[in-house]
Amino acid sequence: MSKLKAKQIQSVRGMHDILPEEQKYWHYIQKKIESLLEYYGFERISTPVLESVELFNRSAGETSDIISKEIYTLKTKGGDMLALRPEGTAPAVRAYLENGMNVRPHPVKLYYIDPMFRHNEPQAGRYRQFYQLGLETIGDGSEAVDAEMIFIAYKLLDSLGLDGYDVHINSIGDQNCRPAYIKALKDYFRTRGKKLCVNCRNRLKDNVLRVLDCKEEGCKEAIKEAPQMMDFLDDACRLHFKHVLEFLDEAKVPYILDPYLVRGLDYYTRTVFELMPNENAGAQSTLIAGGRYDRLIEQLGGVKTPAAGWAMGIERIILAMKEKNVHVPEIGPKPKVFLVQLGEAPKRKALPLFESFRKAGIEAKSSLGRDSIKSQLRIAHRLGVRFALIFGQKEALEGTIILREMDTGVQETILLEKIVDEVKKRLKEKQE
Ligand code: ATP
Ligand code: MG
Repeated sequence: MSKLKAKQIQSVRGMHDILPEEQKYWHYIQKKIESLLEYYGFERISTPVLESVELFNRSAGETSDIISKEIYTLKTKGGDMLALRPEGTAPAVRAYLENGMNVRPHPVKLYYIDPMFRHNEPQAGRYRQFYQLGLETIGDGSEAVDAEMIFIAYKLLDSLGLDGYDVHINSIGDQNCRPAYIKALKDYFRTRGKKLCVNCRNRLKDNVLRVLDCKEEGCKEAIKEAPQMMDFLDDACRLHFKHVLEFLDEAKVPYILDPYLVRGLDYYTRTVFELMPNENAGAQSTLIAGGRYDRLIEQLGGVKTPAAGWAMGIERIILAMKEKNVHVPEIGPKPKVFLVQLGEAPKRKALPLFESFRKAGIEAKSSLGRDSIKSQLRIAHRLGVRFALIFGQKEALEGTIILREMDTGVQETILLEKIVDEVKKRLKEKQE
């Protein structure tokens, strides 16, 4: 009687595995991030995946897409309402306040590389679990910080081999000047309500800025003659923005003024920016988005503290790097030696031999599952090792091993106890 095969279990929709062959991208990107950010004085922080729902309700705003549609929540057995973090800024600020980082010298500069969760429609470059690099500079309201954040974003893409991205920039003012703009926007869209999508019609009441970020054709059309924040900025915000642009000019970071650029989250003030592809990028999506958020720390129970930050999607970076055919090296040093073992006794002795190479600092590889000499030599060839060590029954009995130079095919029998030294010697000779 044939048994019924058990049904295979699939990964959760919108969530994916990162397979071994993908790891070199993650490794490479992480190294680039570390070297750039540590140079600019950022320190890494890791926060829990779960936070109280309250943290995001209070920071992102209940009418934001993240909170109203995309957040994953769960109720614990103890009755607490928790959320899988949809973004990293609010958790970083919570950690800053909770751990008394506010008494450290300011600005406090933090970064994280962590998974985020959003229940949105999965598509290329949009997942329900994805990784973000996030940067936060807390405790400095000066224009130089806005410019530095943008500069670092621009340099990071450059160091990853991604050219063809433009800095789009705008100012969305602050609590003094934005209300008048919001009112003007509402008045404008009210006369064009019919053109807007259902979502945006709902946004008119308490999230009208987000209409400017809508991707629906009708809404894009309706936006075309909308009032611009630039005409509503008060003197302080206008001057701040002007100075940010001057800093960027000085640093030779090209930018595009984008009068309708906004961020989807309530806590942003003044400068907002995105790094978007132009026709040379070979990709479509925004890679980095961020801005200044001078009200968030207060909103989360701290004293008024200015701050700025941005986030970058790692999966989108990898997609963009693949589009551009950016060369990414394999992880770790290249193996020098491949151990070909033939039969039971050699196989048993292979492990200690392997270990003595590791101790000597020589990268060795083997394939203990294979038995034929041909298939093992093929692997050795593919790995590009300099030596194959051939270890058969006869050699195992005699306490010897065959050393083969892969390039020339020249072979020599060596005493087993001398093999590590012999390989070391030959490697050294070639270097000199
Ligand atoms: P979008 O406008 O593309 O929906 P967003 O403006 O909500 O994204 P942010 O929350 O500012 O994006 O996130 C910053 C960056 O994180 C994005 O530019 C993108 O690279 C990445 N990102 C955001 N959402 C996703 C997702 N669902 N899957 C993969 N990457 C994402
Ligand atoms: Mg966006």
